[in-house]
Amino acid sequence: MTRVGIGLDFHRLKKGERLILGGVEYDHVSGTVAHSDGDVLVHAICDAILGAAALGDIGSHFPDDDPAYEGISSIKLLEEVLEKVGSRGYKLDNVDSTLIIQKPKLGEGREEMVEKLGEVIEAPVNVKATTTEQLGFIGREEGIGAQAVATLSRRNENIDV
Ligand code: MG
Repeated sequence: MTRVGIGLDFHRLKKGERLILGGVEYDHVSGTVAHSDGDVLVHAICDAILGAAALGDIGSHFPDDDPAYEGISSIKLLEEVLEKVGSRGYKLDNVDSTLIIQKPKLGEGREEMVEKLGEVIEAPVNVKATTTEQLGFIGREEGIGAQAVATLSRRNENIDV
């Protein structure tokens, strides 16, 4: 049986902060405000995977007031999430995602993200991007968002977890 999960995340943007999207750092005037490295795309993917396994959300596994996760690479969180679902007998079938961002344009970084995420996830990953046509807080470049969908299936149909 295939299981589907969705993930959604937003972060504020602030001048001088780092902007890391899908594990790729962008040289941009502003970056995300967050307890971790603020990788909105990876956070949405983590939530989609946890959702598909009915394992709560990223905030319940990695509390944002826990010093252990301060400035942590979100790729590390993704690896932990994959371990959690793997230990329950699930394997990831695919991940699809969309960044909602006015600026910067993703350019070649998008392929880099797909490559980087694919290495960690070990399943087909797709990254799309859209602007909000300058509308709302994302259009005003006050924040960015991401949405993701993940599908999982049992690694072994005989394991009942
Ligand atoms: Mg987040």
